[in-house]
Amino acid sequence: MDQNSIDALRAQPIAPFGHLIDGKVVSASDGATMDVISPLNGAVLTTVARGTAQDMDAAITSARAAFGDGRWAGQAPAARKKVLHKWADLIEAHALELAVLGVRDNGTEISMAMKAEPGSAAATIRYYAEALDKVYGEIAPTQGDVLGLIHREPVGVVGAIVPWNFPLMIGAWKLGPALAMGNSVVVKPAETASLSLMRMAELALEAGLPPGVLNAVTGEGAVVGEAMGLSMDVDVLVFTGSGGTGRRLLEYAARSNLKRVYLELGGKSPNVVFADAPNLDEAAKVAAAGIFRNAGQVCVAGSRLLVEAAIHDDFVAAVIRATEAMRVGDPLDLQTNIGAVNSEAQLTQNLGFVDTARAEGGEVVTGGTRILQETGGNFMAPTIVTGVTPEATLAQKEVFGPILGVSPFETDDDAVRIANSTVYGLAGAVWTANLSRAHRMVRDIRTGVMHVNTYGGADGTVPLGGVGQSGNGHDKSLHALDKYINLKTAWIKL
Ligand code: ADP
Repeated sequence: MDQNSIDALRAQPIAPFGHLIDGKVVSASDGATMDVISPLNGAVLTTVARGTAQDMDAAITSARAAFGDGRWAGQAPAARKKVLHKWADLIEAHALELAVLGVRDNGTEISMAMKAEPGSAAATIRYYAEALDKVYGEIAPTQGDVLGLIHREPVGVVGAIVPWNFPLMIGAWKLGPALAMGNSVVVKPAETASLSLMRMAELALEAGLPPGVLNAVTGEGAVVGEAMGLSMDVDVLVFTGSGGTGRRLLEYAARSNLKRVYLELGGKSPNVVFADAPNLDEAAKVAAAGIFRNAGQVCVAGSRLLVEAAIHDDFVAAVIRATEAMRVGDPLDLQTNIGAVNSEAQLTQNLGFVDTARAEGGEVVTGGTRILQETGGNFMAPTIVTGVTPEATLAQKEVFGPILGVSPFETDDDAVRIANSTVYGLAGAVWTANLSRAHRMVRDIRTGVMHVNTYGGADGTVPLGGVGQSGNGHDKSLHALDKYINLKTAWIKL
């Protein structure tokens, strides 16, 4: 990856994207399109199809037909494995193209996008390719002349709704295990980050995935997403995004066919720093990166910094230094640490949170403003607010932007109480050299993921999922496969 190749790719025009239905690129049923606006400079990059409910239904019908005739689920596991590996090969071969396309669309800094997007998407697809022929049924420990067999079957048609922050990585977290288990899938990318996911879907066909097994429909969540949610023919709906949309999806399921709905929602993840942390300078740098990379648009971002009162001022000063050393700007520059905010609307919302934090008594100690306005892009200075009370809006509501709220704590119990004082439970971290304290914090802080003396690291071998209003179900690891299968019992008299 070098700057010249990135710059060459960024100069290329992007052809309009249609839906991918039944192996073909098609326009919206009424021919409508949506402009794709660059978060880097506000220019119109290209268009995507503005899907209709009819388009979504056509994609679901295609997926159902593909599942019904066994063109994928009926193939030998070794054959399906080969196709998924080929897909991963193609993603790797097109990694820079995919990463640059995605960054032009969503604004993530390229240094992060390269790893987190095509890199991790390919790794995820390989992981599930390898797993698919290691999933067996079970024989129950029955007594006497009966045999209880437990089969694992694909569910049928999976609907996947993907957000804009990491379309390839999160897309692969859903598509990899869903396809590995033999299902057909319809994916709906986010309005403001469709391009790279649509391209990744095209590569699946090139890899030999039969037509109709993976369909991709662009458009507004409230139109095509709703049609997917209300469909009578989608068996499982998997989603990453906001709590508000998650609630709607549960309603859609209730109003239609009671489809299973798995939600990976937001967080307000606490990063808890004790005075006995092994390396406070390192902790400060990681705390800054843990909230500010991808401009804070990360579901597991460490957006609440809880600092032991004895080191509060010194530690905050170190986090400010680390933050101010991060370069905000052109996401396609390899030196950039913090890219663009995804959309103008998101930026306005972020600035609103800063105003509210001030009004509620918080002190903005760095950032707080829009910057680089002359570029026409959506850039915000990484922002730290101190004196955030546990009840304050900034401590309670997910911002999904580059804003860190800091609160002091006195004792271990205090730290746990504050850490657990939101409706969320996605991720968290504790920094301490005390082994017992580290384990107690892991046990007592209510989250799906806890980090110790680090923040944000993980790979595909471990599950990611939330508790409380951060959602249900898990992406990644073998546990994710459970979402995409049905258990069926065969009770046999011998
Ligand atoms: P964010 O606030 O992170 O943009 P959203 O939940 O609005 O989160 O978006 C995540 C995904 O959900 C996007 O693909 C979006 O199009 C989709 N979405 C938004 N509204 C709906 C809806 N009413 N029904 C189904 N999907 C929706």
